[in-house]
Amino acid sequence: MELVEYVSRAGWGARAYRQPSGAIQYSRPRKGVKVHYLGGAYSDRPHSQCSAYVRQIQNQHMNGNGWSDIGYSFVVCTHGTVYEGRGLKRRNSANGNTSLNEQHYAVLGLHGTNSGEPGAKLLDGIRDAIDYCRKNGPCGSEIKGHKDGYATACPGPELYAWVRAGAPRSDKEEPVTEAEMKKLAELTAERVWVKDHLIDVPWGTTQNPHWAAGNIITDTGNVLREVRGRVKQVQAQQETIRELVQALASRDEAIDVDALIQRIEERISALDVRIVAE
Ligand SMILES: [Zn+2]
Ligand SMILES: [Zn+2]
Repeated sequence: MELVEYVSRAGWGARAYRQPSGAIQYSRPRKGVKVHYLGGAYSDRPHSQCSAYVRQIQNQHMNGNGWSDIGYSFVVCTHGTVYEGRGLKRRNSANGNTSLNEQHYAVLGLHGTNSGEPGAKLLDGIRDAIDYCRKNGPCGSEIKGHKDGYATACPGPELYAWVRAGAPRSDKEEPVTEAEMKKLAELTAERVWVKDHLIDVPWGTTQNPHWAAGNIITDTGNVLREVRGRVKQVQAQQETIRELVQALASRDEAIDVDALIQRIEERISALDVRIVAE
């Protein structure tokens, strides 16, 4: 399995770790992964500044704490990118003591005490790192917080609740953008109304800025109303002619009323068909 967004130590400009302690490898397979947060306030920043922030953490650990390297196995930024810390083979120094460090990988999310609900990209990125450890470890399936087995508030209430829920991937869908909607409308115009020529509508082109599928429905409705009006008009004319023929017949017995009405109705029927077909 490859990480979708992965930055190696060279990629973020890591300092070389100190020998020999920085080179110490795990002596047995890991049980799983422990999740960490920053423990202080964090101000989110553009992704272009994330590598510099990881370098800052490494400097704190090496200069301030006197450690041989950045303490974490991996670091995940709020944009979902996974940064290589001590990686898969070298033992981390973030879980509290040597025994705890041996048992679990340590994955830090760039999430502070002030960050509130973590974003989907951060959570999915941490999950990417966990799955990467599981696949390439060797590493078991445990997902825990730093506070599990050690006295600390880490990884804070939000990330810990997510860890306790099994670190699920986000299923939030990205909202559809204006540009995507426009593209969809143009595809519909081209493939349904224009290319297929199902209905011959002269304004059914993408060149018409007022184009919409609703135009066709409105136009069809208008045509239907007009046809219904004309049919009623013809029916009224038919009724009037029938009355006139009968009035005429009452004055002249030589007129064949039925034959005359039949001839008129045939004419009207033909007229009716002609109107509908227009
Ligand atoms: Zn921690
Ligand atoms: Zn970032």
